[in-house]
Amino acid sequence: MRRPFLAGNWKMNKTVPEAVALAKELVQAVANVADRDIVICPTFPCLAPVAEVVRGTNVKLGAQNMYFEDSGAYTGEISADMLISAGVEFVILGHSERREYFGETNQIVNKKLKKALEKGLGPIVCVGEKLVEREAGKAEAVVEDHVRGAFEGITASDALKVTIAYEPVWAIGTGKTATPDDANAMHAFIRTVLGSIYSADVAGKIRIQYGGSANDKNIDDLMKMPDIDGALVGGASLKADSFSRIVKFVS
Ligand code: PEP
Repeated sequence: MRRPFLAGNWKMNKTVPEAVALAKELVQAVANVADRDIVICPTFPCLAPVAEVVRGTNVKLGAQNMYFEDSGAYTGEISADMLISAGVEFVILGHSERREYFGETNQIVNKKLKKALEKGLGPIVCVGEKLVEREAGKAEAVVEDHVRGAFEGITASDALKVTIAYEPVWAIGTGKTATPDDANAMHAFIRTVLGSIYSADVAGKIRIQYGGSANDKNIDDLMKMPDIDGALVGGASLKADSFSRIVKFVS
């Protein structure tokens, strides 16, 4: 049985006071939720102040990115240790916006994943095809390449600590959601790929979130699907009422 995992990716939104206010509202709204993992991922400057808000609650803190080196002359980058010292427990890696705008390759995602695991952060690895790739019938090939690339050299025991977020790029921020059936089919395919890398047992334990215009209206139908274990939510995580409803999905 995989425990549901709902994560909010705040992207480049919210000043420090705004982030603290949203976190406070959310903590109150989901205080009685016990059977699901809840993570919010604010921007770097907001991490430490939001950590103060969520400390001791059922809401955990994630970052949106990190670098794979420990320290040194890497202007503008942030290390795993820095995140941990700010109260972070999870980190999103390989988001499609990082791949698209900041040149992140499978190799970079793999290095970041290894570092996150070495340091004990809970990685959320994003995979997903673009619209042209889906229309060309290459969706599965692209997703398989992302999965195999990210997990290259990762042991089975480490793989179990990873969450995958399947985020079809054409559904992110567009209001177009993959149908629950289409999303579930890709999740099942990802599990097949994981099974061939590791084993059916390991593949059956790794959580796979859906991401791409998930919201308070479609979450119940998405979460009814057997291979969808949660959601990575962008836009709809920026308001406490919509994200708390997502957290409280009914399946
Ligand atoms: C995301 O960026 O991870 C995402 C899923 O965004 P949205 O929910 O806004 O489509």
